[in-house]
Amino acid sequence: MERFIQNHQFNAIKRHTETVQKTYNTIADRKVIEAVKYSAETHVKELFPVLAEEQWLLLEPLFARKSKIEYEEALSAVAAFVLPFPDVTEAGLKKLFPKVKKLKAPELAAVNFAALTYLGWVDGGSSKLYIVYEHAARLVGVEARLTPTGSKGVCSLCSRHAEVGLVTAVSKARSASNPDYYKAVGNYMCVDSTACNKQITDLSYLERFIGEIVD
Ligand SMILES: [Zn+2]
Repeated sequence: MERFIQNHQFNAIKRHTETVQKTYNTIADRKVIEAVKYSAETHVKELFPVLAEEQWLLLEPLFARKSKIEYEEALSAVAAFVLPFPDVTEAGLKKLFPKVKKLKAPELAAVNFAALTYLGWVDGGSSKLYIVYEHAARLVGVEARLTPTGSKGVCSLCSRHAEVGLVTAVSKARSASNPDYYKAVGNYMCVDSTACNKQITDLSYLERFIGEIVD
């Protein structure tokens, strides 16, 4: 069986099935347990347009009552089917940001490419957030301005409460009547991209944000 799970889908699977495991341990009422399990299974199935039987058989153990160790083992088995982020090199990153003269690339050896929806890093010196993401079947790079807020808020990408910064990027809003019109798009996002990648369960905001800038 080939890898078929995207990082955000894995995060969602983990979140839903952790809820089921917690329910087994805290709720006695069988009907409630069954309802929680059914709801979680439905949500997980909906993550995939098509789910083959062998793929479902891989995920199914996560919904059964497990000890903590058994659950972690089942989760590791599922993690082996997560699609890795495309290979990137420092030279490749520089090509994605041709306008950035001295790109400070992240330490790629320290990045866990097996669990990544987007590659994000902050260049503190220039207050820039760089995002690399596979959009419309190609890798794209977005250079954004990061204004730290120094406080916690809700991240637009992962919807979690975390330390966020205001991220703005210039978008070329194309229109026939206004071919040179530029606008800035922005929102609050996690400052810690590694943590964000472990939490993100939905690509819609990221897709929209990237799309507004590069399309
Ligand atoms: Zn986030």
